[in-house]
Amino acid sequence: MKYLNVKIVTFLIAVTITVVGFAQETELPNVKILATGGTIAGSASSATSGSYEAGQIGIQTMINAVPGIKKLADVSGEQIANVGSQDMTIAIWLKLANRINELLASDDVDGIVITHGTDTQEETAYFLSLVVKSDKPVVLTGSMRSSTSISAEGPLNLYNAVAIASNKEAKGKGVMVSLNDQIHAARDVSKMNTTNVNSFQSPIKGMLGGVFYGRLGFFREPNTKFGSKSKFSVDGVRKLPRVDIIYAYADMSPDLIDVHVKAGAKGIVIAGVGNGNMTDAILNAAKKAYEDHGVIVIRSTRAATGWVLRDNEFKDDKYYTVASGDLNPSKSRILLMLALSEGEKLDTIQNLFYTY
Ligand code: GLU
Repeated sequence: MKYLNVKIVTFLIAVTITVVGFAQETELPNVKILATGGTIAGSASSATSGSYEAGQIGIQTMINAVPGIKKLADVSGEQIANVGSQDMTIAIWLKLANRINELLASDDVDGIVITHGTDTQEETAYFLSLVVKSDKPVVLTGSMRSSTSISAEGPLNLYNAVAIASNKEAKGKGVMVSLNDQIHAARDVSKMNTTNVNSFQSPIKGMLGGVFYGRLGFFREPNTKFGSKSKFSVDGVRKLPRVDIIYAYADMSPDLIDVHVKAGAKGIVIAGVGNGNMTDAILNAAKKAYEDHGVIVIRSTRAATGWVLRDNEFKDDKYYTVASGDLNPSKSRILLMLALSEGEKLDTIQNLFYTY
């Protein structure tokens, strides 16, 4: 009898361990979806209308529109903003970054998805990649077609983004952007087409990975500093120094530099022609802006892809300019704003463009 009791107790312990073990194995990852608006939350008066209003649909409605999403993860949503991303602001970036850092510091959150308009999605992604202090996955997504459009691709993009944010392989890859079955690194991706669903590309380095109805794989590692290795932080930051972008063109007037300096810019990015080139007059105005006001001028390019090399057609040292490498103008602006906010000076800023 005593022997039988021992057997029963042993059996019950074994069952308990199996049930608890099974429960742990099948526990879904926790993914928080932070919504900011955009076309994915946009609605139009007809399914075949290309004109619509962005940022109309709330996050819970979006989650409910994605079949199977709750089998991928325990998802919950939070509305951070509801704007077309042309109205994205530094204030919203700071709010988003602080909330993400707070959420990812908790053991209860495994990954973050951000829904966002596509116009400035690459900027938000790059900003976050520099100031989010966690190796857990953060994935931005959106859509080119509004939620009421025929063949709206938002629900599948959101499903895939949640799959990426739930996947252990995505840890340590930094902030990512995923639309149209592709996964891109925040630093490398650009919106390349105004209307096509295949708009997002990483023209220099290529995709980070791919995703197909939630199944995913990575092809390479991002190779610059981000996340917990980044020196930048938004702790206690309320605003960032003003940095403006000037688009270069043939015979541009050098007084443009003065206009931005007078308006209070602490840094200027020139979307230069070709390899970050600009007229002699602009170069001399850039030199003067640094000498007289300490304004840092970055040479980036208006070309869609390619490097801007230091000391290429002229010596950067002579004009106190910084070459952007492969950072496009809008991302160069973000890096310069963060660098200036940390008190970085001309002699250290070039190196930041090589490493971040
Ligand atoms: N202007 C809108 C936005 O960026 C449209 C782009 C989109 O989301 O596709 O929010």
